[in-house]
Amino acid sequence: MSAPAKVTYVSLSADNAEVRAGFDAAIAEVAGALGGSHAMRIGGRARPGADVMESRSPADDRVLVARVASGSAADVDDAVTAARAAFPAWSRTPWVERARLVDRAAEIIRQRRYQLSVWLIWEMGKNRVEALGEIEETADLLTYYADQMRSNGGFVREMGKLAPTDHNVSVLRPYGVWAVVAPWNFPYALMAAPAAAALVTGNTVVMKPSSETPLSAIKLCQIFEEAGLPAGTINCVAGSGRVVGDGLVMHAGVDGLTFTGSFDVGFQQLFKRFSTQYPKPCIVEMGGKNPAIVMDSADLDRAVQGVHRSAFGMNGHKCSACSRVYVHRAVADEFLRRFERAAADTRIGDPLRPDTFVGPLATRAGFADYQRYVALAGPAVRAGGQVLRDGDFAHGFFVRPTILSDLPDDHALLREELFVPIVAVQTVGSLDEALAAANATRFGLTAGLFSRKQDEIDAFLDRIEAGVVYVNRAAGATTGAWPGVQPFGGWKGSGSTGKNIGGHYTVQCYLREQSRTVVE
Ligand code: NAD
Repeated sequence: MSAPAKVTYVSLSADNAEVRAGFDAAIAEVAGALGGSHAMRIGGRARPGADVMESRSPADDRVLVARVASGSAADVDDAVTAARAAFPAWSRTPWVERARLVDRAAEIIRQRRYQLSVWLIWEMGKNRVEALGEIEETADLLTYYADQMRSNGGFVREMGKLAPTDHNVSVLRPYGVWAVVAPWNFPYALMAAPAAAALVTGNTVVMKPSSETPLSAIKLCQIFEEAGLPAGTINCVAGSGRVVGDGLVMHAGVDGLTFTGSFDVGFQQLFKRFSTQYPKPCIVEMGGKNPAIVMDSADLDRAVQGVHRSAFGMNGHKCSACSRVYVHRAVADEFLRRFERAAADTRIGDPLRPDTFVGPLATRAGFADYQRYVALAGPAVRAGGQVLRDGDFAHGFFVRPTILSDLPDDHALLREELFVPIVAVQTVGSLDEALAAANATRFGLTAGLFSRKQDEIDAFLDRIEAGVVYVNRAAGATTGAWPGVQPFGGWKGSGSTGKNIGGHYTVQCYLREQSRTVVE
């Protein structure tokens, strides 16, 4: 019998016998540990905080998932000091050994895939497929970055000679202490991946998770420690963005930053302020206002499936989520009719259940945002628009996937990232019109096209301004990322490097070049 296929973001279900047994055992195990207290990690040791944050389940806010220590400016300072102290020895550790330790961390993550998935579901409410997909992706990102070191020979390269006695070598070397600030929507993948890229290249790391999902980073830090990384190489301080996040990012002892989160924080508050004395590497991966274009030649069932998964998968809590559809006038009514039916059929429920497509919104703030946006949309609400409060939904942040149509072109809901399951469908008369509207945004993360005409596909690929693009993909945009397969990153206001996560050029972002000439 062949092994069951790995669960990825393309998977429609995670419900074979092995997965079911894995989840059943993990659900029972995690149930006994809910509500426990967790310290931060500094210098390889537990650090209790002066304060405590409560992480509660968005599916039922009566359930206390974890109590996590919350840090202060002094904790940030200690974590940066520990990371600075660990840097000289870690950066001199042969890269082969660093890659081996990162591989080992990936292996531990794989061994605990079900437990980590269940913690993730409790913490932020994504469904089984999404949770298991994220944990698998996390492990694969670590392995991929270790492989990048191997396939590039540690980035040591013999160069040419100007004189016969010269010996010229180009070496990529680490910067020092790297701060990693992550969002709540992929709290494992988007914390572990930048941390691993920084570590495998010889930097040391201080992590700061979102206050919505602090437990994830504590667990990751312990996994890296367990894998054998020396004390202080990786540290984790939880707490608010304003105090701990800002304190970390602006700390003079931090040499590089990877932030994943909103444009307002990433660009306005961090990118513009990060370098003060001299330029420092600052990777900011931010939001999107992602379009999909549906032309009159499209396979409409496929377009509906792709847009539904992109817009409503994980409740629209993805930077990649489709939030604007430009549909050709000739097929607009039919597209909307089928899309409304798909939205109405969406299975909403307990995210721990195998048949749930969407669980609750992940945060109280998102729940309030959803209601504000629906009110703002007014008569443009075509389907959905309600919060669910009865029965099993009474104590969680459950809402209906929502379709808007025919908003005025300058409407705020067509400009701002919403990050909840609301998508606007606008009618266009041509591909030119659709491309102009699709590109009229400060963002440039994902974009899709559904068309059977080659000239339209070529024009779309040539002219669309986004880092991750797809054509005729029933799995849609939300399934874009996978290391070594579909690297993920944004253009314009969606990302600062122009290099995608999990791609050929990621680890180089954590290294600086030294050109060495030694004369005989
Ligand atoms: P956010 O910007 O509110 O917070 C992100 C992180 O920054 C959190 O850990 C937060 O505590 C911290 N933070 C907040 N203020 C800070 C400050 N002044 N200094 C330092 N740190 C601070 O984002 P969020 O709500 O957690 O996540 C959702 C956003 O993330 C969306 O915009 C989404 O599109 C984006 N995102 C982007 C990608 C990508 O790959 N491009 C992936 C996932 C999420």
